[in-house]
Amino acid sequence: MWEKANQKLLSRSKLSTKYQKHQSKYPLSGKLYCKKHNCSYVRKIKHYKNKNDEIYWYCGNFHKIGRKDCAIPYVKEQFIYEILISTLKKYEIYKNEICEELIKLYNSHSKIEKSDKTKTELQNELIKLKSKKNRLLDLAIDGILNKKELITKKTIIENKINQINAELKKMERNNLKIQNQNNYNKNLKKHILKELTITKANIESYIEELLDKIIIEEKTETTNPNENFKIKLTL
Ligand SMILES: [Zn+2]
Repeated sequence: MWEKANQKLLSRSKLSTKYQKHQSKYPLSGKLYCKKHNCSYVRKIKHYKNKNDEIYWYCGNFHKIGRKDCAIPYVKEQFIYEILISTLKKYEIYKNEICEELIKLYNSHSKIEKSDKTKTELQNELIKLKSKKNRLLDLAIDGILNKKELITKKTIIENKINQINAELKKMERNNLKIQNQNNYNKNLKKHILKELTITKANIESYIEELLDKIIIEEKTETTNPNENFKIKLTL
């Protein structure tokens, strides 16, 4: 289940447009099944005089045949959500792992070139080149280099200096990029972790994007009448 959930979460961004197209009216629409009758549940709102409306899901067969034939003719939506939250919460232990994978995936396209030399190495090279350039003039004054040789050597050294300066600038830009990306990742992680923490607030999107089928089954070994059913999930 974990593998499948992970795959779904990873492909979520790619599929989000597709999901939107296929989105049903309600998160549970077409997903709740009565195990006994192999039919789906339909949504109904019950209105009360003295309390808030309550959403129920009724076994499709119950409508035709009546209560006696269906063990779980209807379930409160709130109970289904509560069971789903506690069931899915078991997978939250993987949320750090999922988060890392998502961030890796997110960053995989933004590759930052790494220089094979360190900043200090480049700076040291620069110092050496500059003193070499200064020495050239002495060599020319001493008559060791003629004017043509001086210009050639000077040009070579200056080109090298320019190259290193350019590399240092690039390095600085990259460092800034890395820093920005790290900050961005930190925020991203915070948001992803929040999103991966299953609560009442986001359980509906988990149902929509993660679950294909929620099968309602009679639970015989229970004392609590509100928990007379159990669920089986299909991803
Ligand atoms: Zn039924």
